[in-house]
Amino acid sequence: MNNKVIIVTGAAMGLGLAAAQEFAARGAKLVLVDYNKEALEKAADEIRKELPAVEIATYVADVSNEEDVKGYVALTESKFGRIDGLYNNAGIEGRQAPLTEYDLDVFKKVVDINLMGVYYGMRYVIPVMQKQKYGRIVNVASVGGIRGVVNQTPYVATKHAVSGMTKNAAIEYGKDGILTNAIAPGAILTPMVAEAFKQVNPGNPAEAEREYAQRNPIRALGQPEHVAKLVAFLIGDENGYVNGQTIAIDGGESNLY
Ligand code: NAD
Repeated sequence: MNNKVIIVTGAAMGLGLAAAQEFAARGAKLVLVDYNKEALEKAADEIRKELPAVEIATYVADVSNEEDVKGYVALTESKFGRIDGLYNNAGIEGRQAPLTEYDLDVFKKVVDINLMGVYYGMRYVIPVMQKQKYGRIVNVASVGGIRGVVNQTPYVATKHAVSGMTKNAAIEYGKDGILTNAIAPGAILTPMVAEAFKQVNPGNPAEAEREYAQRNPIRALGQPEHVAKLVAFLIGDENGYVNGQTIAIDGGESNLY
């Protein structure tokens, strides 16, 4: 991945930060995007401290805002002159509620971030990759993009949409040297999942976490580093022929349903 220019959205924590660390360790140049400015700067400093030679730019953007997305694409082009990879990772879970009772404002916010944010990223990055005749895109779906998840209708709807848009990008732009894939993580221990366990069992989130892990074929939650290594493969040169797939990384859990 030496000198590849990679954009990571939602880079301030969780899966985005772990992937940024992995890409940096493999020699990539990074544009880190997040709407949490303070956490974003902290994340970038953490990587710089570990790997002082790495070139990193940060850009504060809400991926659901089209102008912000144009902004991170323009910054990447002006600073590095090309875009080799887009890790379209920023996303939110929303609140947990049955379909008929779901708060409509939260529903629309989940759609704006998880669906439109991923779409805008591809919309504005793909033309740059087409000029280069090269690009790798990894969109973040979820096992909720493969099956239903009780009380998470907009999350499931938007993650299925991510998988669908991935297939379309793959068949429309493969001819331009652009490979587009999605990943479908199961429960990976990040701040987002820690928050979900709090909602499931406010009195004892650790118990909710233990119970959840027991359902998994390998009896454990995943770690952000596991996901980072899969994404590093898909977003780098090592991937020459995987295109349009949604790859589960869940300890095998989705096979239970
Ligand atoms: P997280 O909440 O720990 O981190 C998400 C990051 O994205 C945060 O830094 C947040 O500030 C940023 N972000 C959120 N909305 C944004 C927006 N509109 N614009 C810019 N930045 C934004 O979450 P995570 O667990 O690391 O999840 C990352 C992605 O992985 C999400 O798309 C999530 O749906 C998906 N995912 C996570 C899991 C899991 O188990 N952790 C499982 C399946 C899918």
